[in-house]
Amino acid sequence: MSSPKYIFSNENHRFSFRLTGNTLGLGFAQRLPTPTPLLVVLRSKVYVLPHLDMPNLSILIKSYVIKILIDSVTATGVEFTHGGATYTIGANKEVIVSAGALKSLQILELSGIGDPKVLKPLGIVLKVDLPSVGTNMQDHAADISVSWEVTPESGINSLNKLGDPEFLQQKLGAYFSQKRSLLANVVSERQLPLPSTRHRQSEGHHRETRKGFGRNPPKSAALKKQYTIQMARLKNPDMPVFEIIVNPVLTEWIMLNLARDPTTYPALDANYFDHQIDLDIMVEAFKFGRDLANHEPLKKVVAREANPGPNVGTEADIISMYDPLLLHTFLKSIPSLSEHIKDNLCTVWHTSDTLPMLPEEDGGVVDPKLRVYGTSNIRVVDISIIPLQLSIHTQTIAYGIAEKTADIILEKA
Ligand SMILES: Cc1cc2nc3c(=O)[nH]c(=O)nc-3n(C[C@H](O)[C@H](O)[C@H](O)COP(=O)(O)OP(=O)(O)OC[C@H]3O[C@@H](n4cnc5c(N)ncnc54)[C@H](O)[C@@H]3O)c2cc1C
Repeated sequence: MSSPKYIFSNENHRFSFRLTGNTLGLGFAQRLPTPTPLLVVLRSKVYVLPHLDMPNLSILIKSYVIKILIDSVTATGVEFTHGGATYTIGANKEVIVSAGALKSLQILELSGIGDPKVLKPLGIVLKVDLPSVGTNMQDHAADISVSWEVTPESGINSLNKLGDPEFLQQKLGAYFSQKRSLLANVVSERQLPLPSTRHRQSEGHHRETRKGFGRNPPKSAALKKQYTIQMARLKNPDMPVFEIIVNPVLTEWIMLNLARDPTTYPALDANYFDHQIDLDIMVEAFKFGRDLANHEPLKKVVAREANPGPNVGTEADIISMYDPLLLHTFLKSIPSLSEHIKDNLCTVWHTSDTLPMLPEEDGGVVDPKLRVYGTSNIRVVDISIIPLQLSIHTQTIAYGIAEKTADIILEKA
């Protein structure tokens, strides 16, 4: 069966896509909260519950690994806390670290695996000299900050109406009795691949962008190599600049403080707009999204832009709107679009790539069998090991990494 064809068009752009699975094409994520017959697969049902009676499996909940105990290059056990007490457990074969991009990084560093320059000031005894640990951290960031108020004539029940207590009661009643109503609605996403901005930008702007991009290259070996890939994408005349938005320019995260307590997180600065081009792309994407309300079919149901509202714009927009003599005052009082985006930017919780699978000389932390370089029996199995941020959600990738590693371990067994 062929997938449905979605078309969106205005006088500048025309999109016509099939849902092919290409991450750069139109995508949608339909979300249904309850009543319809959904197939919900709990991962514990698949990965944990069927194996509980295995004699060699013990699961200890509410426990935190503090560090791996390492003798020379070999993990001999793990130190962990449980119920307020600290325990150690021996490792006969190997230790598999699977605590997520930030916590696996933290566990390795607290175990003495990492950059001596980071570990020494913290009083952590160096066990394995691996300066690339934690230097390749990457993330997806999003700015979902344009919204509109719909007209009463549109007949659309916006969620704002739930602020009316009588309306809320009515909808609550319908939800509990029929499992239907406005309360059964959740946000569904549509993703449009945005077109190139090249037609709107001068060659001069592009030259400046490339210069800026080149002026501020990442320092870590892993990021440097990947940065050349990003540069090639940017320079490729056939590559619309918006296609890079799902792979933001690589910036070096800054570890502000490695938490010594394993129950807390290290403090990090994601350094999101280290490269001006990431901000430029976000601004263009925002303007494109904002412009959708000027075109049908959205136009006929939109009463006004609710957030950020017409008073927030780029400086260029402001200049074209106001008397140049008053410009100075307006520029001071009207926030620019860049500021608005910076204020509303948030992580998509896809933080990954902290312990990448790459050749060691290129800044890798694990080898193709997911073993930590310089150790004989420590593996990392989670999304820390991705080398370059992917242009998709990360959860299925975590399952893929786990499944693949199980195969690798079984082959060896
Ligand atoms: C709010 C939020 C929303 C998200 N939405 C989506 C989405 O819609 N789609 C999608 O694909 N992805 C989504 N993600 C991302 C996705 O959840 C992660 O990419 C994925 O879970 C990563 O898997 P992981 O195995 O690497 O790490 P995790 O799933 O984080 O697993 C690590 C485990 O280790 C445990 N742990 C940590 N430290 C220790 C320690 N010291 N000792 C013992 N155990 C420890 C943690 O409790 C956790 O159970 C979302 C993430 C968040 C936070």
